[in-house]
Amino acid sequence: MTSYTICARLSFCPNGPLSLFCGMEIFVHHIDDLSSVSKAINLLINEGYTIILLRGDLGAGKTTLVKVLCAQLGITEPVSSPTFSLVNEYTSPSYGPVYHMDLYRLDKIIDLVQIGFEEYLESGNICLIEWPDLARDMMTMRHVSIDIRVTPDQSRIFNITTYDAVDT
Ligand code: ADP
Ligand code: MG
Repeated sequence: MTSYTICARLSFCPNGPLSLFCGMEIFVHHIDDLSSVSKAINLLINEGYTIILLRGDLGAGKTTLVKVLCAQLGITEPVSSPTFSLVNEYTSPSYGPVYHMDLYRLDKIIDLVQIGFEEYLESGNICLIEWPDLARDMMTMRHVSIDIRVTPDQSRIFNITTYDAVDT
């Protein structure tokens, strides 16, 4: 079972210099229904949102969602958690390089510089970023933030929010 709640509003982003543009909540009862979420993300990618932040506790389902999304993007290579490698690169036949990052083990901005994080963001290629909070202040370009919550019966609630730059 999947249900959707859509809202659109404009307010200030609490985590950076961008404005909150639009939000969608998707309730997913079963892991096999995750394609409803990946399809929503794919639509946003096609609208130019190539930076996707994935938030949620350990075990919330960030890597699992990346796997489903990558399959939808036509990626056939194995997709796994980049917790130790920090960055995995896959190839999508239609979208080109896809970077899958996990900042969990990084604790300093300087580490982000060392892995060339900003270059990945500015490449225009799809960046799927688990544990993105260290890079919060660098999110000055449009992006999507996905917050995953686990309910007591192990269903997942996905809050998908787009952020756009505002003219000041
Ligand atoms: P994370 O990357 O957030 O730490 P994982 O994607 O590794 O989490 O998922 C952890 C576990 O949760 C896996 O065993 C996976 O099967 C399960 N899981 C992930 N997404 C869902 C979902 N939508 N519904 C039910 N179980 C899920
Ligand atoms: Mg993970």
